[in-house]
Amino acid sequence: MAVERTLSIIKPDAVKKNAIGQICARFEAAGLKIVAMRMTWLSRAEAEGFYAVHRERPFFRDLVDFMISGPVVVQAIEGENAIAKNRELMGATDPKKAAKGTIRADFADSIDANAVHGSDGADTARTEIAYFFPASQVYSR
Ligand code: ADP
Ligand code: MG
Repeated sequence: MAVERTLSIIKPDAVKKNAIGQICARFEAAGLKIVAMRMTWLSRAEAEGFYAVHRERPFFRDLVDFMISGPVVVQAIEGENAIAKNRELMGATDPKKAAKGTIRADFADSIDANAVHGSDGADTARTEIAYFFPASQVYSR
């Protein structure tokens, strides 16, 4: 298995719940390393750009409104099989369908306010990490 990097975002709902540390702890407990991290309040343009792939979806406007409703934590996470491992830790998009013990089952309230984002593949991971972090600010160790 290859060492991969993936982008995680702790969304405004989870930040408001004071769950940043608990979510980071799950990554670390699973053997994933946080190699870049920053709190930021996305502008509408930044959120629209990040979710550009969903531009035509009916939920796009609500998704962007939600993502700019408060500060978020953006982070790059590294480890063996990090992309799939993070998706497993996150659980299904709809927290009602998320497996027990996953981040979304434990911290998310709805499909809109679902606590975390995680890249869904190698190409998106690369693009999404570069969207927030220059290569010089990602610290493998
Ligand atoms: P994921 O975040 O699990 O990768 P998607 O990439 O499909 O899910 O969607 C991006 C985000 O858009 C989701 O995390 C969720 O916040 C929102 N979303 C997806 N599907 C819906 C939906 N049917 N209704 C409302 N919001 C949705
Ligand atoms: Mg996605």
